[in-house]
Amino acid sequence: MKTTIGITFFCVLCFSFFSSCSPNEKENSNASDSQFTLKIDSIVSLMTLKEKIGQLNQYSIGQEMTGPNQTNEYSKKRYNQLINGQVGSVLNLTGAENTILVQKQVMENSRLKIPLLFAYDVIHGYKTIFPIPLAESCSWDLLLMESTARAAAQEAAASGLHWTFAPMVDVSRDPRWGRVMEGAGEDPYLGAQIAAARIRGFQGDNLKDTLTIAACAKHFAGYGFVESGKDYNTVNIGQNTLMNVVIPPFEMAAKTNVATFMNAFNDLDGIPATANQFLLNELLSKTWNYKGAVVSDWGSIREMVNHRYTPNLKNAAKQAILSGTDIDMESQAYINWLEQIADEEPSIIKNIDKAVKKVLLLKYKLGLFDDPYKYSNENREKNTVESPAIQALAKQAALKSMVLLKNENSLLPIPLNKKIGLIGPLADDSDAPIGNWRARANANSAISLLDGLNQAFGASNVAFEQGCKLSIGENNFHEELKINESDTSGFMDAIDLAKRCDIVVMALGETAYMSGEGRSRSKIGLPGLQLKLLKEVFKVNKNVVLVLMNGRPLTIPWEAQNIPAILEAWHGGSKAGAAIADILVGNYNPSGKLTMSFPKNVGQIPIYYNKKNTGRPSSGPNQVFYTHHTDVDNEPLYHFGYGLSYTTFKYSKLRISKKELRLSDTLSVSIEITNTGKYKGKEVVQLYITDEFASVTPPLLALKDFVSVELNPGEKAEVTFDVSREHLSFYNQQNKWITEPGSFEVSVGGSSNDCLKTNFTLLN
Ligand code: BGC
Repeated sequence: MKTTIGITFFCVLCFSFFSSCSPNEKENSNASDSQFTLKIDSIVSLMTLKEKIGQLNQYSIGQEMTGPNQTNEYSKKRYNQLINGQVGSVLNLTGAENTILVQKQVMENSRLKIPLLFAYDVIHGYKTIFPIPLAESCSWDLLLMESTARAAAQEAAASGLHWTFAPMVDVSRDPRWGRVMEGAGEDPYLGAQIAAARIRGFQGDNLKDTLTIAACAKHFAGYGFVESGKDYNTVNIGQNTLMNVVIPPFEMAAKTNVATFMNAFNDLDGIPATANQFLLNELLSKTWNYKGAVVSDWGSIREMVNHRYTPNLKNAAKQAILSGTDIDMESQAYINWLEQIADEEPSIIKNIDKAVKKVLLLKYKLGLFDDPYKYSNENREKNTVESPAIQALAKQAALKSMVLLKNENSLLPIPLNKKIGLIGPLADDSDAPIGNWRARANANSAISLLDGLNQAFGASNVAFEQGCKLSIGENNFHEELKINESDTSGFMDAIDLAKRCDIVVMALGETAYMSGEGRSRSKIGLPGLQLKLLKEVFKVNKNVVLVLMNGRPLTIPWEAQNIPAILEAWHGGSKAGAAIADILVGNYNPSGKLTMSFPKNVGQIPIYYNKKNTGRPSSGPNQVFYTHHTDVDNEPLYHFGYGLSYTTFKYSKLRISKKELRLSDTLSVSIEITNTGKYKGKEVVQLYITDEFASVTPPLLALKDFVSVELNPGEKAEVTFDVSREHLSFYNQQNKWITEPGSFEVSVGGSSNDCLKTNFTLLN
């Protein structure tokens, strides 16, 4: 879909990251995979079965593997596998120096000297941390997301890494699931665009470039639909939801030549994703013709025994390799069992060979056979990691990710002459903004909101009270902090401060590890005493600005009704505090739009904008027998696509080029947007399409395109979207991508619930 706008908006900072790719390395590496076939075949012909299986074995190692002095049996065993060609890739070892030492062990000791791959979860930055992916998705800025992925790749690659387990492209409709922080929200179309942007960012045009790394589309598939949002839980979704909601970002990832895929932990309608023939063999391999390697998730081959899908590890190994899971992460199933299985059933050797070839191809494409040490470069590491340009990008990303949810009576921006009372457990916290999946970031390394406000207003104009404390939680896996649930001893000082300041800024939300893997919550309101503290403060000062720092949508109905200004700042990364301060004082006009609906209460979950009409949609007052809850309405608290600005935008003159469209035609949809407020501002203009009737029940609204426009006060722009057959298509019951003639509605606006509408007919 081509989108044109009457004005141009250019991101200089973003482009500077791409210009650093070496120009002579621009050819598309995937087009030239065949150049490696002969070399790969000749290596494979030299390999023993054990060596082949070794290439499929992946485990996590630490610093101890850098030399032969292993202190315990476990690491001795792993070290021996490493130097004997029985490991193809490792995760969690980082740093130029460490990776050189370990690569040397492999290159100097193993028979065939096949370089090792170094992998790591570089999810939203390596050392410099960008906003969590869910936050970044709220920027709707694909170039930004490509840039931050590229910057993360640059830091990681210089530190010896070849491969990140990102992006996570799981669509999710359940904010109880802690891993929504890693994704791009609830929409398959936006999710697919963001998946492509992040993959382009990590990988660039050529994997050989030492400023890029291989990416991994995960978790294939359905993980975002774990029942009740409980991590690792069962997934039961129908084929229609699978194909039209879950699959599109993965399909886009395959089209974008993502280097690898990762399985999901869950079962899907009774079959674990790790041995799912439909997903791996049918869809990925046959239908999409995907040639890259599939890695299991951590221990997910072994976990098929827990799923009660296979009786033992041996059978799990067999099921996984037969289904197309190429690399075994941390189950030690392949290394322990594939040899014996191949003895018993020699036909499985062709599956092993196929998998080995994919691993070798990746190593060739990364250039490791030319130089196994090329990524690990201490000099580049020193100059790249936390470079000023990457730090500046982290601030840009934080600014663009934040979403203004409410701003009654224009309480924001705050004039610089005001006395600020900063209150809350996260106000002076430089750790929460880094969030979960923080790679090699140091704990407490973000700019806190207190630091940011001191800088913006001058320290003498900002007073701080924590109000309620943080303490070490019971789950001490990462020294996780929790928010106090009973100690109100800090309340009095906080209330006193609120009485004597002009504006109260309250920093509330979740600590860094309250979201992320294994951090599902059954209640998603503000944890601990925070709401109680907020209510007490609000009693004495009504000028409260609530700054939320969290990793998922929260249920905040009281806050939304009472507090005049609310900024969703998410876990905003290394520069979060400075970015929030810039928004609060008006140095930056917020432009983020939600990519996940905020429910009014947990009972509304799953709640998402692209819902179905059902057989009993709401039909007016005093009705009982229709799709609803009796104690809450059907609308979310904040809709998908919603987000305010300090200025206002008016939409008018929605026009389409024709009322009747043939399958080969393109429809032009244009609309005028006027900045009707006092500030220069950026607006994300969203285009949705509704299929009135279809052979599978269609969503009521489906995002199909979007574009950002930046306008001065009084300025207008005309935006034109081109809609073609592709945007009217869907997967039918036979999993065929089809278009059905009929009537369609097109909606354009600044939020999924606030659009101008018109309709057209698609002819036979
Ligand atoms: C996660 C993956 C991650 C892997 C390696 C697993 O627990 O589900 O997303 O890539 O660990 O760290």
